[in-house]
Amino acid sequence: MLDDITVPGGHARAARVEAGQLVEIINVRGRQVCDFVAFNAEDLAEHLSPTHTRSMLGRLTLAVNDRLQTNARNPIFELVEDTVGRHDVLFAACAHRRYELDYDGLRGHRNCRGNFAEVLEPYGVGYLQVPDPINWFQNTPVAADGALGMEVSPAEAGDRVVLRALMDALVAASACPQDQNPINDWEVTDIRLVVKDAS
Ligand SMILES: [Zn+2]
Repeated sequence: MLDDITVPGGHARAARVEAGQLVEIINVRGRQVCDFVAFNAEDLAEHLSPTHTRSMLGRLTLAVNDRLQTNARNPIFELVEDTVGRHDVLFAACAHRRYELDYDGLRGHRNCRGNFAEVLEPYGVGYLQVPDPINWFQNTPVAADGALGMEVSPAEAGDRVVLRALMDALVAASACPQDQNPINDWEVTDIRLVVKDAS
């Protein structure tokens, strides 16, 4: 094992991954959403893109064997294991402005965009340059009329997704600090981020 990182609830951590290695994202206590961004390590202008992934897959859901795409339409990860089967590829990362607008002027709340900016600052990625995330374990179903739900994550303790890196990458995971709506079951808890060689 090369890296076994506890992402504290409400915060983010970053890691380097080599092509061929596996990235495991694990729910520690369950019901916790993990926002996730990633970049081509050789050129940070190229990043994981939910928009391009949706376009290439032709659907709004992710399944094992799917390849996650960058904004240059290159595959950056393959989803090789998923014990939950419920994730979000539609929502922006929560942000300072979102808490202010949605929760009566709530200011200073921790947020995934700010979390990513904290851990990506050494790489020169600023607050507004953080790309859109894939939100692992987030339960935001799309109704027949197009309305987006906002429901408790079904992830249990120990549930995980495993990604195989298809290029050298810089990744960051945020244990989403959202405690003002049900997605994390009103309690923010840790995520485990593991980088390891494929066996
Ligand atoms: Zn968040």
